[in-house]
Amino acid sequence: MITEEELDNLIICKKCHTLHKRVPLSENKKAFCSKCDILLYQNSTNTLDRTLALVIAAAISLFITFKFTIITINIQGLEQSLTLYALFMVILEQQQYIVGMMFIFLIVIFPITIISSMLILLTLMKFKKGKYLTQRLLILLAHVRPWSMVDIFFISLLVAMVKLFDYAYIELGVSFIALIFTLILDIIITKNISFYELWDLHRKIYGKIDE
Ligand SMILES: [Zn+2]
Repeated sequence: MITEEELDNLIICKKCHTLHKRVPLSENKKAFCSKCDILLYQNSTNTLDRTLALVIAAAISLFITFKFTIITINIQGLEQSLTLYALFMVILEQQQYIVGMMFIFLIVIFPITIISSMLILLTLMKFKKGKYLTQRLLILLAHVRPWSMVDIFFISLLVAMVKLFDYAYIELGVSFIALIFTLILDIIITKNISFYELWDLHRKIYGKIDE
C-alpha cells in the first residue's frame, strides 16, 4: 500500500505518463520529464502574485465589457449603440431564445463566476486566510472552468448572428474589444497556473485539506 504522503510526492507526465518522484526545487527552477522533456512542475514564488495581477486585469476588462458599447448598428442612417444588456434585449426581441440563454451563461454568468472566484481565491491565498472557503472555490472552479473555452466559439457565433441583420451596418464597440481582451487574459491565466499547481499552492499555504 502506498501512503497518501508518498502519492503526493509522485508526479505523472501529462504527455508520456512516466511516473516521476518529486524533488524540492530551489527558487524559480523547473522540473522536466526525463523522457519527453515536458514541464512537470516549477517553483516560482511569484506565480500567485503574477496570476493575481492577471485576474485583476481580467476583472477590469470584464467590467468595461459590461459598461460600454458592444456594437453600433446603423440602419439607413439611423445609428444605434448597444450595450451588452441592450444587445441581449434585441436577441430576445428577435426570439432567439437559445442564443439568449448561451449569451447569459457564456458572456455573463461564467466569466463573472470564474473571475470573481479566482480573485477571491488568490487574494485569500495571498493573505493565507479562509482555508475552507478557498477549498470550496477550487472545487467550484473545477466545475465551471471547462465551460469557459466555449465562449470563444460563442463569440464567433454571435458575430455570425449579428451579421444576420444584413440590412444594417455594424461597427464593433469598446466592449467587444474588452471582451476579446478578457478571453485572451483568461487563456493566459489558465496557461500561467494549472489546477494541479493551485491545489499544490493551497496545500503549501494551509496544510492538509479538511474533509
Ligand atoms: Zn514525459
